[in-house]
Amino acid sequence: MLTRKVYQKKAYYYLDHAATTPLSKEALEAMIPYLTEDFGNASTIYTLGQRAKQALEESRRTIAETIGAKPQEIYFTSGGTESDNWALVSAMVSGRQRLLHEAIQRDPDAIVNGHLITDKIEHHAILQTCKYLESLGFDITYLDVDSKGHVDPRDVEAAIRPDTILISVMMANNEIGTLEPVTEIGRVAHDHGILFHTDAVQAYGHIPIQVSEMNIDLMSASAHKLNGPKGVGFLYMRRGVNLKSFMHGGAQERGFRAGTENVAGIVGFAKAAETACASLRARNIREQQVRDHLIARLTRGVKFAWLNGDPVDRLSNNINITFQYIEAETLLLLMNEKKIYASAGSACASGSLEPSHVLLALGVSREDALGSIRLSIDPDLSIEDADYLVDTLKPMIERLRRQSSRYLEAIGELPETDAEEPEAKAAGAADAVDTEDAGGALH
Ligand code: PLP
Repeated sequence: MLTRKVYQKKAYYYLDHAATTPLSKEALEAMIPYLTEDFGNASTIYTLGQRAKQALEESRRTIAETIGAKPQEIYFTSGGTESDNWALVSAMVSGRQRLLHEAIQRDPDAIVNGHLITDKIEHHAILQTCKYLESLGFDITYLDVDSKGHVDPRDVEAAIRPDTILISVMMANNEIGTLEPVTEIGRVAHDHGILFHTDAVQAYGHIPIQVSEMNIDLMSASAHKLNGPKGVGFLYMRRGVNLKSFMHGGAQERGFRAGTENVAGIVGFAKAAETACASLRARNIREQQVRDHLIARLTRGVKFAWLNGDPVDRLSNNINITFQYIEAETLLLLMNEKKIYASAGSACASGSLEPSHVLLALGVSREDALGSIRLSIDPDLSIEDADYLVDTLKPMIERLRRQSSRYLEAIGELPETDAEEPEAKAAGAADAVDTEDAGGALH
């Protein structure tokens, strides 16, 4: 039985769970009272407000438990972007002040730039914040990754300088799903007395996380990636780190994050996080099976196609494949006509024909990066669904490729001299996509 989602009486396939996920029924139900009868402001002293405050603190406890943290170490924010901005900007600004203070004891004319180490495949929430920090005079090292997207902890160590304040490396990449060696990187950071931040927006609720065991000082997470509501997230801040407030105003979140708390959103986040973390292993197993089936069929059954990222060390719901000789944007439009929804690169960068910075960092050419799509699945997708998807995608890919003279040349159907007349030469061409056993192109 196909498990296409039914929305407004229309069936569709949603394969973009890395961009966002639907709000779960349990999360919505948990939220409703705080959008209706228990609408009070959590900072007020009367019963209505105190009920909201109680829900807020219960949610904090629930979330803290999922990562082995203490409730006081969880600070609610408006999402992953805010958490990333807060961690980076506040750590760097206060770190530089501290280093400068120490340096001028030795030399009153001392100058301290302040240095942050990150990598080239971070989400824009990190990379654009780094650009902003550069405009404030900070130095940033953007580490290379290997061809599967891994940051090498030895490269992290080699990049450390006397004025390094923070290391920020994501837990799982949003485009290719590669899992980074955060425990080792955190250990390197701590061996050198440097703070370690990880953007766990794609990882939280999808892989097990224990902040102390993983040497994490600061961690960003977001509700809408795990069937919670949009516009709510948290920053985990290890006790003693005490970053300065990033949002200035009221004394909410123990004075560290001003702004009336999004109680309903936070309650929904806690419910979704509790469910996601409790069902994590079972979901991983189901997703992995369908993921690997899809990967096998798409890379072995379609010529000139390969998987980007690590085949094993990756999120269970992520598939990122390059189909040479097509433009992914056009393929996505054809898929859209069949109500199959997916992304090319990251959602935040879509709408532009810029190749993904992540794929470029892996060594994928600009042209091939533009032919790459990301399918991010959920555990409801069955093997049968996956087969339907592959069978629908294959003719689309072939149709697009037949418009490319480079493709026809690659399959020997277009002599170089006849490059102006691809259609004529294409007539009667072999069905090049139906080659399940032909093997994908090497990369
Ligand atoms: N970091 C990563 C790795 C992400 O994938 C995203 C969202 O796609 C963000 C940060 C931003 O999170 P939010 O949408 O909650 O602001």
